[in-house]
Amino acid sequence: MLKNLLSKEECAECRICCSFDSYDLWETPVITRSKASQILQDYKPEQEFVKQGGHFLLKMEKEPDADLYYCSLLDHSKGCIMGNEKPFDCRIWPFRIMSLDGTNVITLSPVCPIVKTRPLDKIMKVCSEISGEIFEEAKKHPEYVKPYLKGYPIIAVERDA
Ligand code: SF4
Repeated sequence: MLKNLLSKEECAECRICCSFDSYDLWETPVITRSKASQILQDYKPEQEFVKQGGHFLLKMEKEPDADLYYCSLLDHSKGCIMGNEKPFDCRIWPFRIMSLDGTNVITLSPVCPIVKTRPLDKIMKVCSEISGEIFEEAKKHPEYVKPYLKGYPIIAVERDA
C-alpha cells in the first residue's frame, strides 16, 4: 500500500486487497525466490507456495462457505504479518504494473474503495514520484508485470517515465 495515498488505519480497516475470490486470484502477490525464503525464515515457516514459472504464489485456503480466499500472510487482527517487507505488488497497491501491447504501464486498481476518495491530482503526483522506481523494478522482475486488464485506468506509460 502506498503510504502517501492511503493511511495505515484505512488499510487496516478495509483489507480488500488482502482477500480474493476465484476471479481475482490472479491479483495475489508475486513472490520471488528471495521473498519466499524471507517468508519461510522470518515470518511463516509453514507457508506453502504454488510455483508459477520462475516465481511463486502464496498457497491460500478457500473459506469453507464462500468463494473467498484470505491471504495466508494476513493476521485478521493486526494486518499483514510482513509489515514493511510486503511483496512488491502489495507495496505499490493500489497501483498495478501491467503490459499493454508490449509497453509497461502503471494502472490504478478500480477495486480499492479508499483511493477513489482521493483527488486525481494527488494520485497523479504520487504516481509521478514513484513511477520510475516501479518501471525499474519491473525491468528487474518481469514476473511482476501482469497482462493489461480492461477497466484499469492507465496513469503512467513507461516511455513517459
Ligand atoms: S502479503 Fe500482506 S499486504 Fe500482501 S495480500 Fe498478503 S496480507 Fe495483504
